[in-house]
Amino acid sequence: MSFNEAELSKYLALNFIFSPQNEFMSMKKQLSQRSADQCELCSGTEGLDTMIVSPQSGTSVDHCINSCHTCRTQINDVEEINLNHWRCLNESMWSEVPAVQVLAWRMLNRIKAEGWPQDLLDMLFLEEETLNWAKSDENEEHSAVIHKDSNGVTLIQGDSVVLIKDLKVKGAGFTAKRGNAVRNITLVHDNADHIEGKVNGQKIVILTQYVKK
Ligand SMILES: [Zn+2]
Repeated sequence: MSFNEAELSKYLALNFIFSPQNEFMSMKKQLSQRSADQCELCSGTEGLDTMIVSPQSGTSVDHCINSCHTCRTQINDVEEINLNHWRCLNESMWSEVPAVQVLAWRMLNRIKAEGWPQDLLDMLFLEEETLNWAKSDENEEHSAVIHKDSNGVTLIQGDSVVLIKDLKVKGAGFTAKRGNAVRNITLVHDNADHIEGKVNGQKIVILTQYVKK
């Protein structure tokens, strides 16, 4: 096949318009405009990148959001969740962009045991199509495990707590006394009732109902 110059330039122009690379560039551009170059969840600007909202394929800008590094890390790894960060959903859940609504809904569901996210969920109304999209993520059964002390205060990794009861430590032959401080606790990530900490130099599992922050 041979082209004359006019045909060749026409061919090149078409190729340019329809190349996937170019579509992607223009999507990035659209996303950057829609989001005003901010994370569409928290307005952060660090490490912005396109995030495809599953199970969509990301072929349209409507399936993606502009997201910051912090949000992406916490969306992808339940154990990285910092509850306070997600107070940002207070505002962003009212976005008119369905992809943002979907992520807000999913995130609020993950952390609803904390209380305030459930209040926000109760206010959030999604169109049927958007709600079905939000519910269609196969990974969504992993809701975050939230540890609370005897007063219902959320515990985080590294907290110091005080025992509110004498606790016999099975197999260790001593009693952890009421009033003892346990520093630098570890949260048992698959059990909301268990934390770990050192008492008498020994690492033990403690029930959250017997401690307070
Ligand atoms: Zn963000």
